[in-house]
Amino acid sequence: MSDNKTHAVIAGGGLAGSLLALTLAERGMRVSVVEKRGDLRSEEAPSGRSINLALSERGIHALKGVGLADTVLENTIPMRGRIIHAVNGETKFLPYSRHSHEFIRAISRPGLNRVLLQRAGDNDQIELHFDTAVSSIDLVQKTISITGSDGQANSLSYDLLFGADGAGSVVRSEIEQSVDLGYQQSMLAHGYKELTIGPEADGGFKLEKEALHIWPRGTYMLIALPNMDGSFTCTLFLPQNSTPGFEQLTTPQAVDAFFSDQFADAKELIPDLTEQFFANPTGVLGTIRCQKWTADGATLILGDAAHAIVPFFGQGMNCAFEDVSVLADFMDSSNYADFSDLLADYEASRIPNANAIADMALDNYIEMRDLVADPVFRLERSVALELERRHPDHFIPKYSLVSFNRISYQRAHEIGHAQQHMLKTLCQECTSLDEIDWDRAASMVLTLPELS
Ligand SMILES: Cc1cc2nc3c(=O)[nH]c(=O)nc-3n(C[C@H](O)[C@H](O)[C@H](O)COP(=O)(O)OP(=O)(O)OC[C@H]3O[C@@H](n4cnc5c(N)ncnc54)[C@H](O)[C@@H]3O)c2cc1C
Repeated sequence: MSDNKTHAVIAGGGLAGSLLALTLAERGMRVSVVEKRGDLRSEEAPSGRSINLALSERGIHALKGVGLADTVLENTIPMRGRIIHAVNGETKFLPYSRHSHEFIRAISRPGLNRVLLQRAGDNDQIELHFDTAVSSIDLVQKTISITGSDGQANSLSYDLLFGADGAGSVVRSEIEQSVDLGYQQSMLAHGYKELTIGPEADGGFKLEKEALHIWPRGTYMLIALPNMDGSFTCTLFLPQNSTPGFEQLTTPQAVDAFFSDQFADAKELIPDLTEQFFANPTGVLGTIRCQKWTADGATLILGDAAHAIVPFFGQGMNCAFEDVSVLADFMDSSNYADFSDLLADYEASRIPNANAIADMALDNYIEMRDLVADPVFRLERSVALELERRHPDHFIPKYSLVSFNRISYQRAHEIGHAQQHMLKTLCQECTSLDEIDWDRAASMVLTLPELS
């Protein structure tokens, strides 16, 4: 439904923006990407920003859409389950799935962005402007003002404008000057700090490689994801202002004592812990929801600009990528004569899904930092995997629906809610799989919402 005359401008050449550029160019548009940062293809990534991410089915599907899945997957590490680290150093493996082909994958954020930008740079329909920030938008004239890092101001006109400029989106706040998007931001009381466990001298991994490691401590947690170079990126999620909290960890002694007390096995693997702790920034986390993502039938925000979520389901990027693949599906359908209707339908179908994954991500923080250490929760997860084995047409655990399937987030949320109720009922007063009433379970699964 477009031709070479349609000029799409994308604010932000991050994960969503670079994937979107490829998707629009493949559909015949001329695309300009305006990216505030320097060119990742030739520069080192800025430090302090989450450097590895969990990639799962929705993200992989979107990468297939631009022919990049195989290239990207070559540089990922399977994470087949969670390894839970108790305070006394004991560990326990909790698989993500009962199927060996179902796992999430650790991937480098800058590496992935670089692959997308390289492919975009090879496409003569796409112009990339680095070190250039979108500063304002004129929705009536359909122009954006851009400013280079040298202070040079310029403007670009567009037929379609996409705001893929992240949680602090300028496009979103500029639209809000004239259109009420129903924007809400709710900050978490917890922040995060990244730390690195380096590789062994021979490049090996100091922890089990194919897992996501969690040190759950009730109101806070440490996690670690593997990197291709043998290192792990750890993230400490902790309240800002509590006991313990970031505001208390102001001296090397305090940090050292906190880690010795709570994460002794991890601390041993980070000899320069306190140096890293004070050199790396403390990030903030929050959820952004909007009631509208479009303006004037020609402007759309997507990815974190439209729906930033907390990172505890590992779905922010996957959801941003799914935004692009769902938009592509709308563009490929023959139902639309113009973009205005298409964007309105896209927005109406997608917002409930963004809200659903935002809610599930918030719920998952409690699961990761607290419940994974609870024997009742672990039994419920084992029962869920066994139910999937016995009743594959009626029961797929919520985690799998979100991470290994592409059923809508909204539907996964509804089904997950019903499953949780059922698991609680079945596991009441049981301590092992042998004690579960499987006949009762067989009739209960039939009352669950359908898996579609
Ligand atoms: C600690 C942490 C861990 C996470 N882990 C995961 C995970 O495991 N799995 C997962 O799926 N997601 C994860 N996420 C979420 C994921 O990082 C985001 O959802 C994803 O980066 C969103 O992509 P985006 O392109 O919408 O935004 P961004 O990645 O923020 O990209 C926005 C781009 O816009 C540019 N920009 C900003 N303002 C302007 C402007 N005015 N003009 C021009 N350019 C501009 C920025 O420089 C940036 O390149 C995590 C997030 C955090 C914070």
